[in-house]
Amino acid sequence: MARIIDGKALAATTRARVAEEAAAFTREHGRAPGLEVVLVGEDPASVVYTRNKEKAAAEVGIRGALHRLPASASQRELLEFVARLNADDAVDGILVQLPLPKGLDADAILDAIDPAKDVDGFHPLNAGLLAVGRGGLVPCTPKGCLALLDHDLATEGEPLDLAGKHAVVIGRSNIVGKPMAQLLLARNATVTIAHSRTRDLPALCREADILVAAVGRARMVRGGWLKAGAIVLDVGINRDADGKLCGDVDTTEALSHAAAVTPVPGGVGPMTIAMLLSNTLLAARARLAASAAP
Ligand code: NDP
Repeated sequence: MARIIDGKALAATTRARVAEEAAAFTREHGRAPGLEVVLVGEDPASVVYTRNKEKAAAEVGIRGALHRLPASASQRELLEFVARLNADDAVDGILVQLPLPKGLDADAILDAIDPAKDVDGFHPLNAGLLAVGRGGLVPCTPKGCLALLDHDLATEGEPLDLAGKHAVVIGRSNIVGKPMAQLLLARNATVTIAHSRTRDLPALCREADILVAAVGRARMVRGGWLKAGAIVLDVGINRDADGKLCGDVDTTEALSHAAAVTPVPGGVGPMTIAMLLSNTLLAARARLAASAAP
């Protein structure tokens, strides 16, 4: 029977660490780190996600607000809003919740965010820095996945060594799949990225020491797709035919094949928010260091 990787517990530990560091930042600099979350429209899932982010930030002593713009907001209005946040020195992190309503150009909005405040890590500059292995702000979900992996390996008392391990990432989105693959590659894993045109996905998955599923298809990855002893990170957030929340992996089946599996809910999701808070602190420190530099 596989072990369940407890994302809630690790997220709680991470949030507690961020709270301590945010308090130290506030003491040292006379202001708290600041995160501004922008929600355009009324997408029900986005309303919940942004409220959770606002609440989580407040709980760790990060200052800021959730700004709600109507779905009718124009591209220009949104760009002007982002420009105001860019210009505000007390703002360290800016997050524009995706997806945006139809008619708004998400790429142009993400491009407009100051890369130093891009706590989602979606700006092309940050994506490029990750690709060339030069740091920058890293997208929260893949960063959280890597933290879960490290934590799980550490719990087992093995060395934190992903070198030569075959990691298969299903999904090639800019926000999860691609940055996940970059992070694993940077840790010397041998990485394969699969997507909707990949042939014989089950056979490919059976070769994976580490499998990351970021697809958006309820329980698509079956137990028989998994190599014995694999570590499985399930990023998917889906509703099954009965309306029940589930991941991209059939967790019940996976538990009898893999070595370790993240549950949905309670796996990758909580880590995503914890990493957002951590990125906000990193951005705040980096901005202060940059302004102090001669
Ligand atoms: P996207 O829709 O942007 O990407 C999905 C990827 O899955 C694409 O690359 C697509 O391939 C691939 N894909 C689709 N169908 C198949 C298939 N049958 N076989 C193999 N690959 C397939 O999704 P995201 O990356 O934004 O999100 C993925 C999932 O993760 C969603 O469920 C989302 O809700 C969840 N999510 C969870 C987060 C969390 O905090 N836990 C955060 C972000 C996302 P192609 O490129 O060829 O179309």
